[in-house]
Amino acid sequence: MTIESGTTSTSGTPSRADQRQGFPEIDILWISEGLSCDGDTVSLTAADQPAIEDVVLGLIPGLPKVNLYNKVLSPTLGGEEFLAPYRAAARGESPNPFILVIEGSIPNQDIIEGDGYWTSFGNDLETGEPLTLNWWLDHLAPKAWAVVAAGTCATYGGIHAMAGNPTGAMGLADYLGWDFKSTGGLPIVNVPGCPIQPENFMETLTWVLYHAAGAAPPPPLDANLRPQWLFGRTVHEGCDRAGYYEQGNFAREYNSPKCQVKVGCWGPVVNCNVPKRGWMAGIGGCPNVGGICIGCTMPGFPDTFMPFMDEPSGGSLSPMLIKPYGAVIRRLRGITNMAVNREPRWRHRGSELTSGYDPHWRP
Ligand code: SF4
Ligand code: SF4
Repeated sequence: MTIESGTTSTSGTPSRADQRQGFPEIDILWISEGLSCDGDTVSLTAADQPAIEDVVLGLIPGLPKVNLYNKVLSPTLGGEEFLAPYRAAARGESPNPFILVIEGSIPNQDIIEGDGYWTSFGNDLETGEPLTLNWWLDHLAPKAWAVVAAGTCATYGGIHAMAGNPTGAMGLADYLGWDFKSTGGLPIVNVPGCPIQPENFMETLTWVLYHAAGAAPPPPLDANLRPQWLFGRTVHEGCDRAGYYEQGNFAREYNSPKCQVKVGCWGPVVNCNVPKRGWMAGIGGCPNVGGICIGCTMPGFPDTFMPFMDEPSGGSLSPMLIKPYGAVIRRLRGITNMAVNREPRWRHRGSELTSGYDPHWRP
């Protein structure tokens, strides 16, 4: 198909002019048939800044018109009606450019080729055989304007990809290649989290949509393809309990307000903004509300962080060093705290002014 300036091809692939000017309309083809619990789709419904409804209803100024296809959130009924835009896109006949969102990890079909399938999404219309997630990826990813991985299973493999798993599961970048580029010239955009923090995902999607509208540069990503502005700091740096850590004041049991590093928190070495951002409407955020950080946004999750609820291995040196330092700091701050809890002595009744003011007008 010839691609004309300022238009899109019937495959949805944007022309150069489109990429400069932005698209008036874009589809989001969301497949949650990776190995997952569908928790990312569920988590997304809690987003408020912006809400997915606001994006789909066109309430965010400057975004293209968005057509969302997601088996839980899509207004279409299901069955072939639901699958139609996916089939069209796989044939290269999508009327609009599309963002492919994958939820769940990618099983390795090669290890059981010809002997069943790990996960599927619809059936082949001719043979009636299930179409595997891998088939959809092979047909959709090369045509997608952008590819987004939602949640830790899709980004890095997550729980399904842990040691001893039978499926050979992996993340999207392991499957498509870490140097994969979409037709829009973007690398895979990874939004990890088990599940995604709702606003983290929506903020990233909105940035990608503004980029599609020609109103923003590509989102800046780190070496693990995570949005830099969301995953550039550690859990510890945003934790409500960091003051306790600094003073060497550690919880020995749950239900304590103190730092939880001794009961299994990996926050000092994990990239995640959840304690700062909260979980829903700013409330929550793992360690803030008594949950240890188990590193669910990290490529090494879960194996590197197991066994959960034990003191982090290799991480015990810094709490050990902080202990004597923290004890001294705590004592000194205790003294200062007593001092700043006293009112100055010149605040009193009586005829004498003792504030230090010089009454120079008096003879
Ligand atoms: S609870 Fe975890 S994240 Fe919070 S201060 Fe302690 S170690 Fe750091
Ligand atoms: S604080 Fe830790 S456990 Fe909680 S979402 Fe972030 S990485 Fe996951």
